[in-house]
Amino acid sequence: EGVRVSVLGLGEMGRALAAALVDAGHHVTVWNRTPGRGATLAERGAVVVDGAREAVTASDLVVVCLLGHDSVREVLDPVAAQLGGRTVVNLTTTTPEQARESARWAAEHGIGYLDGGIMAVPPMIGQPGSTVLYSGSREVFDRYRPVLDLWGESAFHGEDAGLACLYDLALLAGMYVMFAGFAQGVAMVRPTGMSATEFAGMAAPWLSAMTTGFAGYASVVDGGDYAVPGQQSLNFSDLGYLVEATREQGVDTGLISAVQSLIRRQIDAGHGDEGFIRIVESLRAAG
Ligand code: NDP
Repeated sequence: EGVRVSVLGLGEMGRALAAALVDAGHHVTVWNRTPGRGATLAERGAVVVDGAREAVTASDLVVVCLLGHDSVREVLDPVAAQLGGRTVVNLTTTTPEQARESARWAAEHGIGYLDGGIMAVPPMIGQPGSTVLYSGSREVFDRYRPVLDLWGESAFHGEDAGLACLYDLALLAGMYVMFAGFAQGVAMVRPTGMSATEFAGMAAPWLSAMTTGFAGYASVVDGGDYAVPGQQSLNFSDLGYLVEATREQGVDTGLISAVQSLIRRQIDAGHGDEGFIRIVESLRAAG
């Protein structure tokens, strides 16, 4: 039998989340600030309502997928009383501290609270490869697990409501820097006449192969000794040629110089013979 669940926010992602719930046979109520976005969901069986208050009172489980923390506060604050005794699963991307603030707010109003970070784009929802990270109330996670599992693989990361967003953003950091690195490569080869498409064909298998290096780096970091033998040293990884080639191609050196400065800081501190992954210490020092 279906669960009564309301979805607040019918942007690209909210619509994908709601569609998966409707298709699984749940009783779905949806609301969006700007009217009209629920039309296709209504055809599939969702109930579209005009106000957040109406949406919140229709279900015990309220899924929130808005633009950011401010929009979450703007929508939820006025309906705090109605949410008392119900459950909020907030899948809006916020900072970890904002997620914790929402969890405290929920606790003050007697609202069950689970925060989430969606590691997927909307067409991936409910498909293999989609993962949603959760943190906050374990009880909420366990109770609604069958519903959450409709969107992708559900992973619970503890009672600190900020951790799902933190891990989400840590993964996005890797993604954005990788994409920026791809853009740098494109900029370097374009003057030679190579198309970005051709370069992509070279870059994808190369970068995929390089991800097998994470585990080795991780074991060095976790082992706490950057000097263990068998690693590529910081001295070897100076990036001097890379910076120079970037300049020769007329490409901005800001991105690659930023990486070089992380390496140089460790070399300058006398660690040049140690492993490349010691740059973690440069990053930590900045915090
Ligand atoms: P969209 O821009 O498509 O949708 C944003 C939604 O937020 C709309 O429903 C919009 O309503 C609503 N909204 C914005 N401000 C307010 C407000 N002040 N009051 C009420 N409603 C408001 O974004 P997405 O659906 O793509 O993203 C939603 C969340 O999902 C974000 O936190 C995003 O980071 C996260 N996410 C998205 C991914 C993606 O690939 N799209 C991937 C992973 C996470 P209106 O129609 O009225 O403007």
